[in-house]
Amino acid sequence: MARAYRDKGLGPMSQHFLLSAAARTLSLSSIFRMSDDEARDTFKRIRWSANGGDPFCPHCGCLTAYTLAETLPRWKCSGCRRKFSLTSGTLFHSRKLPVRDYLAIIALFVNGVKGTSALQISRDLNINPKSSFVLLHKLRESMGSQIHNPDEPELSGTVQVDGAYFGGHVKPENRKVDRKDRRLAEEQTGKRQVVIVAREIMGRTRPFVVSRESEAVPLIRQHVASGSNHPCRRIERLGALARVL
Ligand SMILES: [Zn+2]
Repeated sequence: MARAYRDKGLGPMSQHFLLSAAARTLSLSSIFRMSDDEARDTFKRIRWSANGGDPFCPHCGCLTAYTLAETLPRWKCSGCRRKFSLTSGTLFHSRKLPVRDYLAIIALFVNGVKGTSALQISRDLNINPKSSFVLLHKLRESMGSQIHNPDEPELSGTVQVDGAYFGGHVKPENRKVDRKDRRLAEEQTGKRQVVIVAREIMGRTRPFVVSRESEAVPLIRQHVASGSNHPCRRIERLGALARVL
Protein backbone atom coordinates (compact mmCIF):
# COMPACT_ATOMS: atom_id res chain seq x y z
CA MET A 1 0.00 0.00 0.00
CA ALA A 2 1.19 3.52 -0.74
CA ARG A 3 2.66 5.58 2.06
CA ALA A 4 -0.02 7.49 3.92
CA TYR A 5 0.22 10.72 5.85
CA ARG A 6 -0.89 8.78 8.94
CA ASP A 7 2.25 6.62 8.60
CA LYS A 8 4.48 9.53 9.52
CA GLY A 9 3.15 9.27 13.06
CA LEU A 10 1.69 12.75 12.84
CA GLY A 11 -1.95 11.69 12.70
CA PRO A 12 -4.27 12.88 9.95
CA MET A 13 -4.64 16.34 11.54
CA SER A 14 -1.57 16.81 13.70
CA GLN A 15 -1.94 20.54 13.33
CA HIS A 16 -4.71 22.38 11.57
CA PHE A 17 -3.32 24.27 8.60
CA LEU A 18 -4.85 27.51 9.91
CA LEU A 19 -2.66 27.20 12.99
CA SER A 20 0.57 26.61 11.06
CA ALA A 21 3.42 29.12 11.00
CA ALA A 22 2.79 29.54 7.25
CA ALA A 23 -0.75 30.84 7.97
CA ARG A 24 0.37 33.06 10.84
CA THR A 25 2.93 34.88 8.69
CA LEU A 26 0.50 35.84 5.89
CA SER A 27 0.28 39.58 5.37
CA LEU A 28 -2.47 41.38 3.48
CA SER A 29 -0.04 43.48 1.42
CA SER A 30 1.82 40.40 0.17
CA ILE A 31 -1.47 38.62 -0.64
CA PHE A 32 -2.77 41.49 -2.76
CA ARG A 33 0.48 41.60 -4.76
CA MET A 34 0.17 37.90 -5.67
CA SER A 35 -0.80 36.65 -9.12
CA ASP A 36 -3.49 33.93 -9.30
CA ASP A 37 -0.79 31.25 -9.61
CA GLU A 38 1.17 32.63 -6.66
CA ALA A 39 -2.00 32.74 -4.54
CA ARG A 40 -2.74 29.09 -5.39
CA ASP A 41 0.88 28.11 -4.60
CA THR A 42 0.68 29.91 -1.26
CA PHE A 43 -2.63 28.23 -0.39
CA LYS A 44 -1.07 24.87 -1.32
CA ARG A 45 1.93 25.55 0.91
CA ILE A 46 -0.30 26.50 3.85
CA ARG A 47 -2.85 23.77 3.37
CA TRP A 48 -0.28 20.97 3.16
CA SER A 49 2.34 22.64 5.38
CA ALA A 50 2.59 19.46 7.48
CA ASN A 51 3.93 17.69 4.37
CA GLY A 52 6.28 20.42 3.17
CA GLY A 53 3.58 21.88 0.90
CA ASP A 54 3.23 18.70 -1.20
CA PRO A 55 -0.39 17.62 -1.78
CA PHE A 56 -1.60 14.41 -0.18
CA CYS A 57 -5.00 12.76 -0.44
CA PRO A 58 -7.65 14.34 1.85
CA HIS A 59 -9.70 11.12 1.63
CA CYS A 60 -7.23 8.36 2.56
CA GLY A 61 -4.04 10.27 3.53
CA CYS A 62 -1.96 8.66 0.75
CA LEU A 63 1.19 10.71 0.05
CA THR A 64 1.45 9.81 -3.64
CA ALA A 65 -0.74 11.97 -5.86
CA TYR A 66 -0.53 12.68 -9.58
CA THR A 67 -1.04 16.17 -10.98
CA LEU A 68 -3.83 16.19 -13.55
CA ALA A 69 -3.49 18.26 -16.72
CA GLU A 70 -6.32 20.67 -15.97
CA THR A 71 -6.55 24.47 -15.98
CA LEU A 72 -7.11 24.67 -12.23
CA PRO A 73 -4.70 22.40 -10.38
CA ARG A 74 -6.18 19.03 -9.39
CA TRP A 75 -4.61 15.80 -8.26
CA LYS A 76 -5.47 12.11 -8.35
CA CYS A 77 -4.64 9.86 -5.43
CA SER A 78 -2.62 6.76 -6.29
CA GLY A 79 -4.15 4.91 -3.32
CA CYS A 80 -7.92 5.43 -3.53
CA ARG A 81 -7.90 6.84 -7.11
CA ARG A 82 -10.11 9.76 -6.10
CA LYS A 83 -9.52 13.27 -7.46
CA PHE A 84 -9.07 16.29 -5.24
CA SER A 85 -8.51 20.02 -5.64
CA LEU A 86 -6.76 22.72 -3.65
CA THR A 87 -9.81 23.22 -1.43
CA SER A 88 -11.22 19.65 -1.28
CA GLY A 89 -11.83 18.61 2.30
CA THR A 90 -11.36 22.14 3.63
CA LEU A 91 -13.95 24.66 4.76
CA PHE A 92 -13.41 26.53 1.48
CA HIS A 93 -14.58 23.57 -0.64
CA SER A 94 -17.34 24.36 -3.18
CA ARG A 95 -17.10 28.07 -2.52
CA LYS A 96 -16.88 30.47 -5.42
CA LEU A 97 -14.44 33.13 -4.24
CA PRO A 98 -10.93 33.51 -5.70
CA VAL A 99 -8.16 31.78 -3.73
CA ARG A 100 -6.65 35.20 -3.01
CA ASP A 101 -9.80 36.12 -1.05
CA TYR A 102 -9.49 32.93 1.04
CA LEU A 103 -5.90 33.87 1.87
CA ALA A 104 -7.03 37.39 2.82
CA ILE A 105 -9.78 36.00 5.07
CA ILE A 106 -7.24 33.71 6.78
CA ALA A 107 -4.82 36.64 7.24
CA LEU A 108 -7.51 38.94 8.66
CA PHE A 109 -8.76 36.16 10.93
CA VAL A 110 -5.41 34.99 12.34
CA ASN A 111 -3.93 38.49 12.62
CA GLY A 112 -7.01 40.14 14.16
CA VAL A 113 -5.81 40.28 17.76
CA LYS A 114 -9.15 41.55 19.07
CA GLY A 115 -11.31 39.38 16.85
CA THR A 116 -12.55 40.02 13.33
CA SER A 117 -16.18 40.74 12.50
CA ALA A 118 -17.99 39.38 9.45
CA LEU A 119 -19.05 42.92 8.52
CA GLN A 120 -15.48 44.17 8.59
CA ILE A 121 -14.31 41.35 6.31
CA SER A 122 -17.23 41.85 3.93
CA ARG A 123 -16.34 45.56 3.60
CA ASP A 124 -12.57 45.03 3.39
CA LEU A 125 -12.82 42.35 0.71
CA ASN A 126 -16.06 43.51 -0.95
CA ILE A 127 -17.81 40.16 -0.44
CA ASN A 128 -21.32 39.33 0.75
CA PRO A 129 -21.66 39.67 4.57
CA LYS A 130 -23.43 36.29 4.68
CA SER A 131 -20.42 34.64 3.00
CA SER A 132 -17.96 36.20 5.42
CA PHE A 133 -20.23 35.29 8.37
CA VAL A 134 -20.38 31.62 7.30
CA LEU A 135 -16.65 31.43 6.55
CA LEU A 136 -15.70 32.98 9.90
CA HIS A 137 -17.92 30.50 11.74
CA LYS A 138 -16.36 27.62 9.83
CA LEU A 139 -12.87 28.93 10.66
CA ARG A 140 -13.76 29.04 14.36
CA GLU A 141 -15.38 25.59 14.25
CA SER A 142 -12.39 24.01 12.52
CA MET A 143 -9.95 25.51 15.01
CA GLY A 144 -12.22 24.45 17.90
CA SER A 145 -12.31 20.89 16.54
CA GLN A 146 -8.61 20.58 17.40
CA ILE A 147 -9.49 20.41 21.09
CA HIS A 148 -11.81 17.46 20.53
CA ASN A 149 -9.42 15.60 18.25
CA PRO A 150 -8.24 12.47 20.11
CA ASP A 151 -5.17 12.19 17.82
CA GLU A 152 -3.92 15.61 18.86
CA PRO A 153 -0.79 15.38 21.06
CA GLU A 154 -0.72 17.22 24.39
CA LEU A 155 0.95 20.63 24.65
CA SER A 156 4.48 20.23 25.95
CA GLY A 157 7.62 22.20 26.76
CA THR A 158 7.01 25.63 28.26
CA VAL A 159 3.27 26.31 28.24
CA GLN A 160 1.79 29.70 29.14
CA VAL A 161 -1.76 29.86 30.48
CA ASP A 162 -3.88 33.01 30.68
CA GLY A 163 -7.53 33.88 30.67
CA ALA A 164 -10.15 36.61 30.86
CA TYR A 165 -13.85 36.93 31.66
CA PHE A 166 -16.28 37.95 28.92
CA GLY A 167 -19.97 38.83 28.66
CA GLY A 168 -22.91 38.66 31.02
CA HIS A 169 -23.01 42.30 31.97
CA VAL A 170 -25.44 44.84 30.54
CA LYS A 171 -24.72 48.29 31.89
CA PRO A 172 -27.74 49.16 34.08
CA GLU A 173 -29.31 52.54 34.73
CA ASN A 174 -27.46 54.06 37.60
CA ARG A 175 -30.32 54.48 40.08
CA LYS A 176 -29.35 53.90 43.67
CA VAL A 177 -32.49 51.89 44.54
CA ASP A 178 -31.78 49.45 41.69
CA ARG A 179 -28.10 49.01 42.41
CA LYS A 180 -26.88 45.45 42.77
CA ASP A 181 -23.53 44.11 43.83
CA ARG A 182 -22.76 41.94 40.80
CA ARG A 183 -19.69 40.51 42.49
CA LEU A 184 -22.10 38.39 44.58
CA ALA A 185 -22.93 34.95 43.19
CA GLU A 186 -26.72 35.45 43.61
CA GLU A 187 -26.62 38.63 41.46
CA GLN A 188 -24.74 37.07 38.54
CA THR A 189 -26.58 36.23 35.32
CA GLY A 190 -24.74 32.99 34.60
CA LYS A 191 -23.88 34.26 31.13
CA ARG A 192 -20.40 35.40 32.08
CA GLN A 193 -17.75 33.01 30.78
CA VAL A 194 -14.01 32.63 31.02
CA VAL A 195 -11.84 32.12 27.97
CA ILE A 196 -8.65 30.32 28.99
CA VAL A 197 -5.79 29.95 26.53
CA ALA A 198 -2.86 27.55 26.91
CA ARG A 199 0.00 28.12 24.50
CA GLU A 200 3.34 26.46 23.88
CA ILE A 201 6.14 28.99 23.46
CA MET A 202 6.39 29.48 19.67
CA GLY A 203 4.01 26.56 19.22
CA ARG A 204 0.41 25.44 19.35
CA THR A 205 -2.47 27.15 21.16
CA ARG A 206 -5.49 25.59 22.89
CA PRO A 207 -8.46 27.78 23.87
CA PHE A 208 -11.11 26.65 26.40
CA VAL A 209 -14.41 28.34 27.27
CA VAL A 210 -15.65 27.56 30.79
CA SER A 211 -18.00 29.09 33.36
CA ARG A 212 -15.35 29.67 35.98
CA GLU A 213 -11.59 29.40 36.01
CA SER A 214 -11.53 26.34 38.28
CA GLU A 215 -13.37 24.38 35.55
CA ALA A 216 -10.36 24.86 33.27
CA VAL A 217 -8.07 22.92 35.62
CA PRO A 218 -9.07 19.40 34.42
CA LEU A 219 -8.94 20.60 30.80
CA ILE A 220 -5.43 21.98 31.28
CA ARG A 221 -4.40 18.71 32.94
CA GLN A 222 -5.85 16.78 30.00
CA HIS A 223 -4.28 18.87 27.24
CA VAL A 224 -0.89 19.79 28.71
CA ALA A 225 1.75 17.10 29.21
CA SER A 226 2.66 16.56 32.86
CA GLY A 227 6.03 18.01 33.73
CA SER A 228 5.54 20.99 31.42
CA ASN A 229 6.52 24.32 32.84
CA HIS A 230 3.58 26.77 33.20
CA PRO A 231 4.59 30.37 33.85
CA CYS A 232 1.19 31.96 34.57
CA ARG A 233 1.29 35.55 33.43
CA ARG A 234 -1.62 36.87 35.51
CA ILE A 235 -1.56 34.64 38.52
CA GLU A 236 -3.57 37.03 40.67
CA ARG A 237 -6.57 36.78 38.30
CA LEU A 238 -6.25 33.05 37.81
CA GLY A 239 -6.03 31.97 41.42
CA ALA A 240 -7.49 28.49 40.94
CA LEU A 241 -5.19 27.76 38.01
CA ALA A 242 -2.14 29.17 39.74
CA ARG A 243 -2.70 26.87 42.72
CA VAL A 244 -2.63 23.67 40.68
CA LEU A 245 -0.16 24.52 37.95
ZN1 LIG B 1 -6.68 8.66 -1.50
